[in-house]
Amino acid sequence: MDVESIREDFPILDREVGGEPLVYLDNAATTQTPTQVSRTFTEYYDEYNANVHRGIHQLSHEASVAYEDAHDRLAEFVGADGREEMVFTKNATEAVNLVAHGLGHQHLEPGTAVVTTEMEHHASLVTWQQIAERTGAEVRYVEVEDDGTLDAEHAKEVIDEDVEIVSVAHVSNVLGTVNPVRELADLAHDNGAVILVDGAQSVPTRPVDVTDLGADFLAFSGHKMAGPTGIGCLYGRRDLLEEMDPFLYGGEMIRHVTFDEATWNDLPWKFEAGTPPIAEGIALAAAADYLDDIGMDAVRRHEDELAQYLLDELAEREDVEAYGPPAGVERTGLVSFNVGDVHGHDLSEILDDRGVAVRAGDHCTQPLHDVLDIPGSVRASFYVYTTREEVDALLDGIEDAAERRD
Ligand code: PLP
Repeated sequence: MDVESIREDFPILDREVGGEPLVYLDNAATTQTPTQVSRTFTEYYDEYNANVHRGIHQLSHEASVAYEDAHDRLAEFVGADGREEMVFTKNATEAVNLVAHGLGHQHLEPGTAVVTTEMEHHASLVTWQQIAERTGAEVRYVEVEDDGTLDAEHAKEVIDEDVEIVSVAHVSNVLGTVNPVRELADLAHDNGAVILVDGAQSVPTRPVDVTDLGADFLAFSGHKMAGPTGIGCLYGRRDLLEEMDPFLYGGEMIRHVTFDEATWNDLPWKFEAGTPPIAEGIALAAAADYLDDIGMDAVRRHEDELAQYLLDELAEREDVEAYGPPAGVERTGLVSFNVGDVHGHDLSEILDDRGVAVRAGDHCTQPLHDVLDIPGSVRASFYVYTTREEVDALLDGIEDAAERRD
């Protein structure tokens, strides 16, 4: 992968922070956007900005075609079978909520259960808690082992015939663990359940194919994959989306309305109420093109190499505790850690003074931090433009923080 030439596509990487060159290592939160994507966004507003589906005029026609094609492009990106299986949402969180509200209210009741894991992001963990509370269903959590992997035996215990929905992160946003989704999907299906995969950290960082995974639903966000904010995606198996109730109601998602009732539009529009994220959707398709040009296999390798490098370097330091699978196990390009008793916010401030952007806190996984028995952690996360020298800049900052403490 030619990282230096990739970096030229991201003008923001040339900026300085406090007089230091920016070292952006907060990619698991939001990635930067290449000019190919921002240009597509601007072109929409400069050349064919109009509402979709509604107007019988040239601009509306152009916007509608580009917006609909974008669904096909994102469907293709994750191996889905065309636009009918690809719903655009506001973000991954909304995509999870769409399934939880649509399917949860239809299938969950007292005596049934949802299985999720201890390493879930609040986007799904809190959502399932709420749906379970409203429906009387039980939430079961697959435990996380000390090495940051899921306990496969525990998964077999908790996924039984009472389970209607299994909801699991493909990749943990704290541990970097790549979960065995295929095995969990088989377990779910053998017990008559469906599986929702939270792909927020996997779709941006590795090849993802919904058929290979056995996923019935897959949620992900545009802003973590070189795309714009304000757009997320939900892949759903066509028969399940057809059966599922809409989550939001209003214009665009209806076919016919009377004072007494309404009928729903075709897929995927049935799930896209109101004016959708048009520019965002079209620009996200450009992000998918951009990543495919690099090659998702290359992205995966690059991320893994940087993570392994950082883990090896951190292992040299006695005062650092890193979380998640040990060096040698494949993971995405994110590493969470703590340095002695230095508070994460202090460490990230010291790093920020050096132009290094990382994230500190609980990363929207408070229950996982309870399992790890730590109040928070610092997370460095990489993307296609991250260099080894940037990881070294992080390591220098950690050294600095440790010295200041001594
Ligand atoms: N799931 C995981 C694993 C995540 O890492 C995130 C974001 O950090 C989300 C869900 C939620 O994504 P968004 O905030 O874009 O909805």
